[in-house]
Amino acid sequence: RKSMEPTIEALVDGVLSGNRGQLARAITLVESNAEQHFHKAQELLQKLLVHSGKAVRIGITGVPGAGKSTFIEAFGTYLCDLGLRVAVLAIDPSSSLSGGSILGDKTRMEKLSRNPRAFIRPSPTAGKLGGVHRKTREAMLICEAAGFDVILIETVGVGQSEVIIRDMVDFFMLLVLTGAGDELQGMKKGIMELADAVLVHKADGANKEKAELTRKEYGRILHFLQPATKGWSSKAYTCSSLTGEGIREIWDVIRDFEAKGKSSGVFAERRKGQQRDWIYSLITDQLHYSFFHHPGVKSKLPQLENEVMAGEKTAATAVEILFKTFLQN
Ligand code: GDP
Repeated sequence: RKSMEPTIEALVDGVLSGNRGQLARAITLVESNAEQHFHKAQELLQKLLVHSGKAVRIGITGVPGAGKSTFIEAFGTYLCDLGLRVAVLAIDPSSSLSGGSILGDKTRMEKLSRNPRAFIRPSPTAGKLGGVHRKTREAMLICEAAGFDVILIETVGVGQSEVIIRDMVDFFMLLVLTGAGDELQGMKKGIMELADAVLVHKADGANKEKAELTRKEYGRILHFLQPATKGWSSKAYTCSSLTGEGIREIWDVIRDFEAKGKSSGVFAERRKGQQRDWIYSLITDQLHYSFFHHPGVKSKLPQLENEVMAGEKTAATAVEILFKTFLQN
């Protein structure tokens, strides 16, 4: 029986013509953890690469409950109404660790997912040959080749994933809530330093006034931080995904950011840097994977771990033994 797997040519044609089924299949191919798919996926990406790069890449983060998916639904729908095509990707840091998911399995962004101009792809899981990082980046390139104008990449703000996202987007925004006092104290300065905009979300009803105060607070802090993007001063804004207030403004801010960055060269410079860094993150991924899957390392690691825990060997000695094993064959 003939294989059901489409040929590379069929996938390339399908993606370039905006065929959603082929687009989904192409992303599935790059997300696959099967070794035999890796080269096929790279061949596909190589052909699509020249067609990528034209979208605006936007990263969105915030704690669970900040309203990320509600915002993306409202913002994405707004963009679709403007005639733009919007792809939504997610990085779920939990899935690579526990197999579970913070972003949740509930049906999210139901309205947007039915919009013919939108495409929503849930978070890939990590595996051999690169983690979620590689897969999300490659999925983004495929979406761009398929003609999407805006790529929204969502992540939960719980540590490393913000940095990973910052490294693949043009514009990075942080969704926060009112009740600033404690939250501002607890907020890592590091993540605010990455943000091109802070959005005080759920600024509606009884919350509106408080949101305005919170916005000022964040504004003050941002004022004293290093700019996330050269030549751009990150500011705080309020918005509500319920009433739609502030949604248009944030798009105006992003358009302004893009225009300024393109005329100053900062936009292109960042993308170039990101392309370069991509190599290093892949090297790290590959080394990590091949090290921990090396049969010699695998067989020696448990014993060495015990010896280190028992205080019989230093960690550095254990690592040296493992590396000798790893490098010998
Ligand atoms: P996520 O975990 O960051 O994706 O948050 P969700 O989008 O699931 O939203 C969490 C809760 O906040 C839900 O109950 C939403 O209905 C509510 N919510 C989201 N956006 C808004 C908003 O703009 N205004 C108000 N009042 N509630 C909102």
